[in-house]
Amino acid sequence: MFVFSKNKILVHEGRYDFNEEYIQNLDVMRSSAELPENWKRLAQWADVQNDSPDFIGLRDLWHIAGSEAFARAGGALIFAEWFRNFRKCPYCGGELAPSNHDYGRKCSECGKIYYVQQSPAIIVAVERGGKLLLAHNTAWPDGRYSVIAGFVEPGESLEMTVRREVREEVSIDVDGIKYFGSQVWPFPNSLMLGFTAEYSSGEIMPDGTEIAHAGWFDPDEVRKLKLPDGASIASRLINHFLDTH
Ligand SMILES: [Zn+2]
Repeated sequence: MFVFSKNKILVHEGRYDFNEEYIQNLDVMRSSAELPENWKRLAQWADVQNDSPDFIGLRDLWHIAGSEAFARAGGALIFAEWFRNFRKCPYCGGELAPSNHDYGRKCSECGKIYYVQQSPAIIVAVERGGKLLLAHNTAWPDGRYSVIAGFVEPGESLEMTVRREVREEVSIDVDGIKYFGSQVWPFPNSLMLGFTAEYSSGEIMPDGTEIAHAGWFDPDEVRKLKLPDGASIASRLINHFLDTH
């Protein structure tokens, strides 16, 4: 069972996955242990309020415990956040009760059933003749670069999102979109879907609002930049480019 205080996770004496006995000594606000039996197959979590430095960010957990622990804890945090933030039926205000049959919560008044929501987002490494497209976001520290990313909008296939995001952010068109891999990204509830793509036409023109600067970088130039945290799929995409060029 993972123990969260807001979006931080407890790592105590080298452990980040605790048994129910351990949890009983904490001041728990909510816990998956109170849910029906079928929910216990899901990630287990307990929600506490605690300022102890033993609680660390999930990115730090990735560095300590690796990608599998990060994914499991990330899934648990998405559920914990859903129970924190989604308290009553948005339609009629009735109380929600967890379903015994699936992972939904049913309104005791109007009967509507709700499921935990995730926001799919794409991230794409675009290549042109041995160079990688990297962009500097206006919100980032100076000199930091990464690949293009953005949320999937209703009505879009993932390929449509890839094309739209690249066109919106840097004004070029891409082709040859290939699936690369995915990652739980619980900040707050994304599923990142990674792709590679080939440049097809246009000249780079940053949008100026989200992207301040963008360009094509060869492997040696990429290695000199401030790149994304190793915990992210962005980092895997960039390393894949470096490994194959
Ligand atoms: Zn309702």
